[in-house]
Amino acid sequence: MGSIAAPIFWYNISHMETKLTIDTSRVDPEGEELEGEVDCVDLDEPFVKPFGGVRYVLQIQVFGSELLVRGRLEQDFDLVCSRCGKDFDDTIKVEDFTASFEIGEDSPEVDLTEELRESIILALPTYPVCDETCPGVEQTVEMPSDDRWNVLDSLNKQGERENGKS
Ligand SMILES: [Zn+2]
Repeated sequence: MGSIAAPIFWYNISHMETKLTIDTSRVDPEGEELEGEVDCVDLDEPFVKPFGGVRYVLQIQVFGSELLVRGRLEQDFDLVCSRCGKDFDDTIKVEDFTASFEIGEDSPEVDLTEELRESIILALPTYPVCDETCPGVEQTVEMPSDDRWNVLDSLNKQGERENGKS
C-alpha cells in the first residue's frame, strides 16, 4: 500500500477536488454555507481554456427529499478575442446559481459537479471580446488608402536617404 513518506507538499499543491458531493444526512437542518473550489470544467477547446477550479459560495438546505442549492460561481478562463484574435484572461461568473437535487433512497450523497460545470459553460460568451472597445483585426491592419499618406511616405523616405548620405 502507499508509503507514509509520500511527499506531502506536492500533494497539497496539486490536489484539488474534481467533484463536489454533499452528504445530505449531515447538512444542518437550518441550512449551511459552503465555500471552496472544484476542478470540474475540463473543456477541450483551443480557444477556451479554463484554469484553476470553479470557486463557489453556496447556500445548501435539505427540504424533505430535496437538496436546494443557490449561490455564486466563478471560473477563470484563457479566452481568444473574437475580434482581434488575441489571448486574454477573463473570469466567468454565475451570480444566481440555483439547483435542486432529488436525494436518492439508497444514498444520502448528492453530486453537484455536473450542474456547476454546465452552469459555467452556459455562462461563457459566444463571442468573447478582450475589451468592449476592441477595434478588431480589420481596423488595426488596414492602412488608409489616401494619397496624402503616400506623399508623406515618399517625403519621409527621401529625408531618410538624405540623412543617410550626410
Ligand atoms: Zn480583442
